[in-house]
Amino acid sequence: KGSNGKYSVTLIPGDGIGPEISESVKAIYSAAKVPIEWEEVSVTPVLKGGKTVIPDAAINSVKKNTVALKGPLATPIGKGHVSLNLTLRRTFNLFANVRPCASIKGFKTPYDDVNTVLIRENTEGEYSGIEHEIVDGVVQSIKLITWDASERVARYAFHYAQSSGRKRVTAVHKANIMKMSDGMFLSACRQVSKEFPDIAYDEDLLDRVCLQVVQNPAPYSNRVMVMPNLYGDILSDMCAGLIGGLGLTPSGNIGRDASIFEAVHGSAPDIAGKGLANPTALLLSSLMMLRYVNVQNFACNSEVTGCSPYRHMDLNEHAVKIEDATLSTIAEGKTITGDLGGKASTKEYTNAIIAKLTA
Ligand code: NAD
Repeated sequence: KGSNGKYSVTLIPGDGIGPEISESVKAIYSAAKVPIEWEEVSVTPVLKGGKTVIPDAAINSVKKNTVALKGPLATPIGKGHVSLNLTLRRTFNLFANVRPCASIKGFKTPYDDVNTVLIRENTEGEYSGIEHEIVDGVVQSIKLITWDASERVARYAFHYAQSSGRKRVTAVHKANIMKMSDGMFLSACRQVSKEFPDIAYDEDLLDRVCLQVVQNPAPYSNRVMVMPNLYGDILSDMCAGLIGGLGLTPSGNIGRDASIFEAVHGSAPDIAGKGLANPTALLLSSLMMLRYVNVQNFACNSEVTGCSPYRHMDLNEHAVKIEDATLSTIAEGKTITGDLGGKASTKEYTNAIIAKLTA
């Protein structure tokens, strides 16, 4: 918090629809008088020592503020491109990706009782980026699983369950096939579970979970699901589909050195620049940020070391106000964007939320 009483937060508008949805969040925040000062930075790669890297100004801003809101970044497909998302995750050690997905009351979808929380290991697994061509026509991609990263994300999942009142943690896996890698992920989860006797723990196969969640999401609503990287990526999009799509699902990349909040969706090049994007996912991500309890030091066991693991941004009241205005705008259905079946532009939808906030 700065001397002006405002929290300084890094804002990375991103690519495609990123700038449009970021504008919307900024407009809503200023209407709601949230005491936040945005420090806007670009992460467009620059050349440094023959390599493309994220500009120092962006890295330094996130380092200083330790919290950032980020729009989607387009990753060009093909050789020689670094994924900026992966770079950010590695730079700030963003080890857990939290993806809540809850039905919006009044907004009609096949189910009205989805309330899942997925926690995805965010630094390794299939996203380690270790790929090579062994011989012509044969490529190997390495799924790297380490005990440390598995244990760290498992511990975060149990902390999250405890602090959010969820009674069970389920580790989602394919250890029947990936016996060693997913097997070790499970062992780490099992070991951590012993530290949390008040939280139930079980394990379930990814394919089974997919089938069950689409058939009846209710049993998955009072728990936290924790899993290796790729499974979380896919399962969370599936859950998003159950509540109305990618325009609605937020996420938080929780790290040791900083935390970066972002929508689950990408840069949506098909609708970019047209004023059609739904800003809700980024907006809800920003609300996760307002409610966020900084667990910077949680990896050090506070009871043992005496370090204080929690630092509150303490803006929950603002989060509740904005959330109510947003969800009731969606539930009314009069001014919603095309992805939700409406006809409103990003601006019209944003203004409808602002009208509720300032009424
Ligand atoms: P996408 O999420 O950008 O789009 C998938 C579909 O959902 C599109 O039809 C799009 O129009 C729609 N959609 C997504 N967000 C929406 C919103 N807010 N409002 C309305 N409709 C929305 O996925 P993609 O097309 O596979 O990826 C596009 C680019 O984004 C790629 O370069 C990819 O690498 C990148 N990406 C980035 C992130 C990130 O920065 N975290 C995440 C996923 C994808």
